[in-house]
Amino acid sequence: MKRIVVKVGSHVLNENGNLARERISNLCQFIAKLRQKYEVILVSSGAVAAGYEKLKLDKNILSNKQALASLGQAYLMSVYQKKLALHDIIPAQILLNGDDFDSRKKTKHAKNVIEVLLKNRALPIINENDTTAIEELVFGDNDQLSAHVAYYFNANMLVILSDIDGYYDKNPQTDSFAKIKKIVHHIDESELILPCNPNGEFATGGIVTKLKAAKFLLEKNIKMFLASGFDLSDVESFLLNNIHKKGTLFKCE
Ligand code: ADP
Repeated sequence: MKRIVVKVGSHVLNENGNLARERISNLCQFIAKLRQKYEVILVSSGAVAAGYEKLKLDKNILSNKQALASLGQAYLMSVYQKKLALHDIIPAQILLNGDDFDSRKKTKHAKNVIEVLLKNRALPIINENDTTAIEELVFGDNDQLSAHVAYYFNANMLVILSDIDGYYDKNPQTDSFAKIKKIVHHIDESELILPCNPNGEFATGGIVTKLKAAKFLLEKNIKMFLASGFDLSDVESFLLNNIHKKGTLFKCE
């Protein structure tokens, strides 16, 4: 069975300061379908925003933000647990930091755990450990974390579900003539210095972190697919029926 990592962005998981329960339900149903064909690892953002639903702390203060991450992570997992139970899926939480990929021993240890979970049909749900992370050790965005997860945990593909349905030649939020790129073989350094433009107050990445993730994986000959997390029909048709409608596929030539 091929292994895929699915990363879902905070904007997809939250709506007006609350967890977007219907979208989370759709995501869980989608994951259940995917698991008939693939081994799936989920990388989920959204903890800080979920925490903010419970406690309105000023997230510009670092310790508040970390407190929100800790509150929100537990809350988010409880929602996943309920929604996944409808599909008989057991979630398992794994919190990682940049340094988990710095040492071969640590990475191997984490990989062994993932292997046990997948073998036993649990769903690993990974997030950055924002509560205790020290600045030098964090990825700061789950796009790059998920690229590392895909590479070090032997996935065939990373799927990023975002608030945008693909990679455009210009920022589609500000340029109505922007055109979607269907297949990308190469990412130029100049594309990595574009303004980040994350969409929404809880978004951290923007398009640049997605391109960095794609570049990292292209160098390792692993595919990445960027598609909408609001409407899962494109990603579903791509992964389950091999029909590429919308969404951007990053792959080597
Ligand atoms: P997520 O929360 O899913 O990680 P982000 O909001 O961080 O997503 O990043 C996606 C956003 O990046 C888009 O909504 C869009 O505003 C912005 N963006 C800027 N330039 C581009 C581009 N060339 N193609 C696609 N999105 C872009």
